[in-house]
Amino acid sequence: MKKKMSTREGKLRRPETASRKLRPASFSKFAEELAEMGRSFYSRGWVLGTSGNFSAVVSRDPLRLAITSTGLDKGNLAPGHFIEMDADSKIIRGKGRPSAEALLHLAIVRGREAAAVLHTHSVWSTVLPVLTHPKAESLWKGTRC
Ligand SMILES: [Zn+2]
Repeated sequence: MKKKMSTREGKLRRPETASRKLRPASFSKFAEELAEMGRSFYSRGWVLGTSGNFSAVVSRDPLRLAITSTGLDKGNLAPGHFIEMDADSKIIRGKGRPSAEALLHLAIVRGREAAAVLHTHSVWSTVLPVLTHPKAESLWKGTRC
């Protein structure tokens, strides 16, 4: 049976047991799992070509992320395509460089206590916000809003 989510000072928190049961971190294991997941996302059309990027928190203190290197085709993603970066987006391990969106990943894992960030570029996740934008018609016509 799942534990009910609790709130603390109005912020939604994960159940206490979930945060305590985080398994010991392993960059290699995260890179392997993220690569497999990335290829799966690609096959579903959620990331096209080099778009999107994925990260997982390897450690909180000090903050370390396993994150995709920039410019890679997600259909061919492999564990060697991941780099480990610190809280300042400095590369600790691996070859390549983090994308410009690496700072977004860092902000999310800090601000939301997320264990992973899976940033996709599916056509549908792009179309829906545009359709619901108050000035959607202007956006589609390419005029300024
Ligand atoms: Zn993006």
